[in-house]
Amino acid sequence: MSKFYITTPIYYVNARPHIGHAYTTIACDAIARRHRMLGDDTYFLTGTDEHGQKIERAAQASDKTPQQLTDEVSAEFRALWDRMGLTYDDFIRTTSDRHKRGVQELFRKIRDNGYIYKGHYTGQYCVFDELYVDAVGPGAPCPECGRPTETVQEENYFFKLSAFADKLLKLYTDQPDFIRPETRRNEVMSFVRSGLRDLSISRSTFSWGIPVPDDPRHVIYVWLDALANYITALGYGSSDTKLYDKYWPADLHMIGKEIVRFHCVYWPAFLMAAGLPLPKAIMAHGWLLFEENKMSKSRGNIVRAETILDVLGADALRYFLLREIVFGQDGSFSFDALVQRYNADLANGLGNLASRTLTMITRYFRGEVPYPSAKAAHSAADDAIATAARDTIAAFHSAFDQYQFSRALEGAWGLVAAVDKYIVENEPWSLGEKQDEQSRARLATVLYTSAEALRIVTALAHPVMPEATAKIWAQLGLGDITKFDLRSLAWGQLHLGTKLGKVEPVFPRADKSAIERMQQMEEQGRPATAVTVPGATEAQPATPTAPPAGQFATQAVKPVSAPTATPDGKISIDDFAKVELRVGQVKVAEKVKGADKLLRLEVDLGSETRQVVAGIAEAYAPETLVGRKVVIVANLAPRKLRGLESNGMIVAASPDGGKPVLASFLEDVPVGTKLK
Ligand SMILES: [Zn+2]
Repeated sequence: MSKFYITTPIYYVNARPHIGHAYTTIACDAIARRHRMLGDDTYFLTGTDEHGQKIERAAQASDKTPQQLTDEVSAEFRALWDRMGLTYDDFIRTTSDRHKRGVQELFRKIRDNGYIYKGHYTGQYCVFDELYVDAVGPGAPCPECGRPTETVQEENYFFKLSAFADKLLKLYTDQPDFIRPETRRNEVMSFVRSGLRDLSISRSTFSWGIPVPDDPRHVIYVWLDALANYITALGYGSSDTKLYDKYWPADLHMIGKEIVRFHCVYWPAFLMAAGLPLPKAIMAHGWLLFEENKMSKSRGNIVRAETILDVLGADALRYFLLREIVFGQDGSFSFDALVQRYNADLANGLGNLASRTLTMITRYFRGEVPYPSAKAAHSAADDAIATAARDTIAAFHSAFDQYQFSRALEGAWGLVAAVDKYIVENEPWSLGEKQDEQSRARLATVLYTSAEALRIVTALAHPVMPEATAKIWAQLGLGDITKFDLRSLAWGQLHLGTKLGKVEPVFPRADKSAIERMQQMEEQGRPATAVTVPGATEAQPATPTAPPAGQFATQAVKPVSAPTATPDGKISIDDFAKVELRVGQVKVAEKVKGADKLLRLEVDLGSETRQVVAGIAEAYAPETLVGRKVVIVANLAPRKLRGLESNGMIVAASPDGGKPVLASFLEDVPVGTKLK
């Protein structure tokens, strides 16, 4: 029996749980369930990340102690996971004693091995990202999220990260599957190749954290604290290391793409420094985005998983997320797409196949699985279904092993469609009306073939839709699906005379009102989704807009300006007229050294040429912009980005989590023209 240890990121308690967190955790749950079905000794860990300055401030702002706040939010995560039936084996909290003990032990070990020293850090820190930001001046915006950074001047403990560059590069080269997908691996390799600086791993200006051993004036950097959960949960640093000895190293850390650096650079370096084994693989998924739809952005666009659970159930959400989104890439969520896929694939697809097949077996064979008769010649169509089913099993395993959930499910639903077609063409309902022996035998073959294909899809889909497949399995008369050994799955295992259970529909069709209900529930339930984090944004509370999936800290949220607004949120024409928008033409475009996202542009506005620094480098190569006409906010106060003065702002559509798209004109417009 081989073991399989899988982890979610632990979720930062500055945000209440939402569909993004659910996405990550559902993916892990599906993987864990499948490994259990494959007979692996599986251990599935999740939990919450609860320390750091951001939490301390959020607690102060809400008149709670940090412990009260983290107790509350952590409990919400756990309650939601339980409601969704997620099969985690342990839920770790970073404020627990077992975790604190383990983190201090890890710190001690790294220090004893000579990789921690005391030094001074003077520079900028982004509280929102809990990130040291090098190479920007006092007051400069954070290059990750654009919020103002704070100057930090303190005596700190430093980790000799610089000593691990070569070892890390060797790791990525020797184990190409250590970081997946490939794009993330390439990013990490170029980051490490560009040089690693030592990392400050303690803070002394606030206290909500784990004290440094023997120097309690310092607390341990929240990321070193958080990452260690993967071993402290197994008992690392305690007297009972049975689980640690059995399950470490992890077989898979599942993460969101925004925390790749912490997991793929810092975490293995910490482990190397402590002399501990490294995890076997890290898989970064993309962000879950929200389509422009009736949900109002001004209200905040966070979708809660509870809404979907209430209306369509957990299986529908699980199936949609894993089927709709190519795992590893960004994907889009909307209620319309959810209901459409639910109806097409589940109500009309698997659900319909199950109910028509099982109903006919009940009607024509008194609820006992008929056996393909020797007297009825097998048609080529029967053999084609058997062959398709065998191919589907192999392809499903192979895709799922690569975490290509959408491809695996697409293949299985291809079999569902093939069987539907087979049923239509062979008309079992007509055969059922006839009493001659030949027709009865043929009917038995058609219904057996359909039921056997149904059994195979049901077994394969079980890790993705545990509830519905358990019901279909029971209706097939096969008992408890969790006891089924998925390794043995093959065509022809459904036995003659198997007595069906009670046949009931599994996926009732959803009508249009389902979409409206979900939208209404979201609007009513939304105020509870944000935890106010003062100081993390300028003057406003953290505005919830489409945070990406599964991560420790919610991602950058674009500050929303608050002009003098009427009570319904509208501004007057005078307010709009204050913004001077002009057409400009790019004369020069170049990358800004040391800033992956920034371009320096010289823009001709007709009367003058402006230098504008814009965060569009990931979307546009500099050479493609020269000569292009753009829209500039011309009367914006100058500000400095990476030491460069930016005079104005370039206007772009900014899809949540996606790349910016520059505003442009279909007709030719003279340079300098004012927009109004
Ligand atoms: Zn930031």
